[in-house]
Amino acid sequence: MLTIERLSKTYKTGDTALSEVSLTVPKGQIMGLIGPSGAGKSTLIRCINRLVQPTAGRILLSDMDIVSLGKSDLRRQRRRIGMIFQEYALVERLTVMENVLSGRLGYVPFWRSFLRKYPASDIQRAYQLLDRVGLMEHADKRADALSGGQRQRVGIARALAQDPELLLVDEPTASLDPKTSRQIMRLLTEICVERGLPAIVNIHDVPLAQQFMQRIVGLRAGRVVFDGSPDLLTEDA
Ligand code: ADP
Ligand code: ADP
Repeated sequence: MLTIERLSKTYKTGDTALSEVSLTVPKGQIMGLIGPSGAGKSTLIRCINRLVQPTAGRILLSDMDIVSLGKSDLRRQRRRIGMIFQEYALVERLTVMENVLSGRLGYVPFWRSFLRKYPASDIQRAYQLLDRVGLMEHADKRADALSGGQRQRVGIARALAQDPELLLVDEPTASLDPKTSRQIMRLLTEICVERGLPAIVNIHDVPLAQQFMQRIVGLRAGRVVFDGSPDLLTEDA
């Protein structure tokens, strides 16, 4: 479970991106984050993965306070949060399998004989994940040989290879066509429910959010202006 308490961020420039945002995301819940450009969505995601240091407030993942982690703890704990990106962020010249395995390490080595470095149990698990995202027969292809939808499936499998306790998903379908977008959102939501994994999805496509998210949080000017079921979302939220 993720608990955010009165989280605020004011950048050095004086821009206040978040003002006392409080949220709880329980296990298995997939929460869509919407709002106009500049609302603070990216800042919220970056505070949770600590690319940005909040000005005030607390972020608790289970009982760990992310805001107060020191550098070495942060490195050790990063694996607990899985990231999925708009442009997939795969290593294009590595294989699908190698990309998935890199999730275990939390960094991406570039040498080729890379599979040998992993215990058999990691490799077996990576195959299970590839099977789950429907890419088993593509395991040995290079990432740059895949379509956008397939790449995002690799991105999902890589994030899951970390055994994360939380998924942060940044506009996962922004580079995909509508049909592929729906397939990816369906896969993501099913996986979160199966694993009891909480997820926050920065999603600019409101109809897609309404179709797939269990809950929507609307941000505007750094504040929560809507928090509820997608059915309750109105035009001006
Ligand atoms: P969104 O993701 O909803 O578009 P952002 O979190 O990117 O919103 O931005 C929220 C506010 O914070 C905006 O006013 C933006 O200009 C400001 N902001 C974002 N990143 C930075 C930064 N690195 N330095 C200064 N201001 C920033
Ligand atoms: P996004 O598309 O994710 O909302 P933006 O295009 O708003 O991102 O911002 C791109 C980059 O510029 C981000 O790294 C963000 O932190 C930074 N940024 C945004 N607004 C500002 C700002 N006012 N001052 C400095 N950096 C900013």
